[in-house]
Amino acid sequence: MADITLDEFRDEVTAFLEANAPRRTAEQAFRWGEGSDDVSLFEEVDREAEKVLLDQAKAWRATRYDAGLGWISGPAEYGGRELSGAHERLYASLESRYQTPNMNFFGIGLGMVAPTILAHAVPEVRRAYLPGLYRGDIVACQLFSEPGAGSDLAGLQTRAERDGDEWILNGQKVWTSGAHYSQIGEIICRTDPDQPKHRGLTGFVVDMHAPGVEVRPLRQMTGGASFNEVFFTDVRVPDNHRLGDVNNGWAVALTTLMNERASIGGGAGGGMGLANITRLAEMLRHFGLADDPVTRQELMKVYTGFQVAKYTNQRAMARIKRGQLPGPEMSIGKLSLTNNLKATTEFVATVLGPRITADTGEWGTYAWSKMLLGVPGMRVAGGTDEVMKNIVGERVLGLPKEPGIDSTSPFRDLAKN
Ligand SMILES: Cc1cc2nc3c(=O)[nH]c(=O)nc-3n(C[C@H](O)[C@H](O)[C@H](O)COP(=O)(O)OP(=O)(O)OC[C@H]3O[C@@H](n4cnc5c(N)ncnc54)[C@H](O)[C@@H]3O)c2cc1C
Repeated sequence: MADITLDEFRDEVTAFLEANAPRRTAEQAFRWGEGSDDVSLFEEVDREAEKVLLDQAKAWRATRYDAGLGWISGPAEYGGRELSGAHERLYASLESRYQTPNMNFFGIGLGMVAPTILAHAVPEVRRAYLPGLYRGDIVACQLFSEPGAGSDLAGLQTRAERDGDEWILNGQKVWTSGAHYSQIGEIICRTDPDQPKHRGLTGFVVDMHAPGVEVRPLRQMTGGASFNEVFFTDVRVPDNHRLGDVNNGWAVALTTLMNERASIGGGAGGGMGLANITRLAEMLRHFGLADDPVTRQELMKVYTGFQVAKYTNQRAMARIKRGQLPGPEMSIGKLSLTNNLKATTEFVATVLGPRITADTGEWGTYAWSKMLLGVPGMRVAGGTDEVMKNIVGERVLGLPKEPGIDSTSPFRDLAKN
C-alpha cells in the first residue's frame, strides 16, 4: 500500500476539490436538484436530460481519475491507487462538501460489476474494463432478473451455448437499470440445463452493443424509465469474457449480490443524497417548523434509524477489511436502508402535507414526490424485503428454514381438520 498518511491525503484531496469544484453552501443543502447538483436516484428525467447529466458525471469521474483519485483503494495494475478504505471514506466525506455531478449512473458498474470482474475475470478482461469503468468511460449494467426469475434467481432461463472459442446467448432479461446507457453488462446464463439449478449457471461480461442485443425501456410509476427489458438473440461472447469457471456462475452472482446489498445498504447510490439529515433539518427551518417539538422528535427518529444502519455497515466493512466476504450484515443493511427511506418519505410527506401532491411551482415541495413514489421500488431491488428477512432469520438468528410449499396438495393443513 502506498505510503501517504490520512492528513497528507486530506491536503491533496482538498487542493484537488478547491481547484475543480465549487463549495456546497448551506443554502444548497436545502435547495437541491438545481442544475446538475444532486439529482437523486429517484429523480428520473427524460432521456435527453439524462444524457446531459451522464456526460457531466463522466467528465467528473475522468477528472478524478486523471488526478489519481478515481479508484482510491484499487490495485495499481488496474488503475487504482492502493490506499486504504479509510482514505476512500475520507475522500467521500470531503467531496460531499462540494458541488459535484450526481454519480448514480456508476452505482451498478462500480458497486457491483467492477468488484465481480476483479474477483472472477481473467487479467486481460480486467485490464480491458476496470480502468475504463473507474474513469467513467465505460458504464456497466447487471443482467440478472428475468420474467420468471427474480427472488428465485437460480431459476433463470437465458441460455449460453458454447461454439468453439465463443458462447452464443439467447433469452430475455428484465428490470435492467441503466441498460440503455451501458457499454457492458454482467450476465448470468444457464449453460447446463441438466445440472441442479444452482450448478448449471455461468457468468459473462457482454458487450451491450453487440449484434443481437435489443434494449427496450420500461416506464415506472415515478414517470421515469430508468430500467429496461433486454433481449438476446444469437449474441456472441468470447470465451475469455467468461466470469469464473463454466457452471460456477452462482458464486459469481453471489459476489455481485453481496456487493449490491453492500452498496445499496451502505448508502452509495442509495438515495442518501436527497435524504440526508442536514437537508431535512433545512427543510424544517424553511417551513418554520424547526422549533416544533413533535416534528423535531420525528426527525430524530429518522436520524437514529440512519445512525444505527451506519454502525451495522461499519461492522460489515470491518469484516471486509479483515479479508472476509461481506456477510448477512449486508442483508440487514439493505433492509434498514429501505425502512429508513420509507420513514424519511413518510416524515417529508407529513411535513409537506398536500404540497407534495401537486406541482404548484413552490420550490422544494412537489420534487419530493419522485422519491415518495420511488422508495417502494427500493424494497424490491437487490432482493425484496421478504427475502432479506428470510436471510436474516435463517443465517443471522439461526431460525428454522422457511417451509417449502407443497404445491401438489394445496390447503393440506385445512384438509387435516
Ligand atoms: C428499482 C429496481 C431496479 C432493479 N434493477 C435491476 C437490475 O439492474 N438488474 C437486475 O437484474 N434486476 C433488477 N431489478 C429486479 C429485482 O432484482 C427483482 O425485482 C427482485 O429480485 C424481485 O424479483 P421479482 O420482481 O421477480 O419478484 P418475485 O421474486 O416474483 O417476488 C414477488 C413477491 O413474492 C415474494 N417472495 C418471493 N420469494 C419469496 C420467499 N422465498 N419468501 C417470502 N416471500 C417471497 C417477494 O418478496 C415479492 O413480494 C430491479 C428492481 C427494481 C425494483
